[in-house]
Amino acid sequence: MVTTIDIKDIVSEAVCRYYLSSRRRSDDSTKISVSEALQCLRRSFYDRTNPMCSINIASMEIGTAVHRAVLERLADYGFVIEVPVSKRYGDVTIVGRVDAYHPDLDVIIELKVVSKKVDEPPKEHMAQVSIYMDIVGCRRGYIAYLSTDPRKPLWVYEVRKNRHLVDWVVERARKLSHHLREGTEPLPEPSPLCAFCPYASMCKPLLRRKRFK
Ligand code: SF4
Repeated sequence: MVTTIDIKDIVSEAVCRYYLSSRRRSDDSTKISVSEALQCLRRSFYDRTNPMCSINIASMEIGTAVHRAVLERLADYGFVIEVPVSKRYGDVTIVGRVDAYHPDLDVIIELKVVSKKVDEPPKEHMAQVSIYMDIVGCRRGYIAYLSTDPRKPLWVYEVRKNRHLVDWVVERARKLSHHLREGTEPLPEPSPLCAFCPYASMCKPLLRRKRFK
């Protein structure tokens, strides 16, 4: 007899299978995506070498359906959406997907669906737009935050390309590439996001942080 627990397991597995297939990574250790370079490098390493999922992280992907639907509407205004881009920086190629690019207006937009009000874009978001501007050769970049918080449901922030942030992303990509080639784990980069990381039990970032204090 099927039980509630069986159904929960089936749904949980289906969500995780979707999550893992949507995050399939390249096998080429010299090709690093912008998102791999910007998240915890240790997590990016595990995503390639030992991919795992947990239901709490997969459920956070619900915003991607809204993200995709809004991007499709932007296409009605002359934007090309989800544009694959890549550029070689020395021994590493950085790859990515620009949410929306308008060739006539020379503008890119990164759309972020968030669950709370954003007052200041985090460094990672600014770096993401900066590197995309560098790859595309585009002069104007924006981040549009679409939030479920009614106090600030939509906020658009103009990003000026920042050379320092571009170099920072390239350096992180090089570091990950090196670890993938050598088969060695990058150091953990503990943050509040560890609470949603599927590798937390093998990484044990809090224990390590304590040990190094
Ligand atoms: S638990 Fe934290 S430090 Fe460890 S891999 Fe995940 S995000 Fe990185």
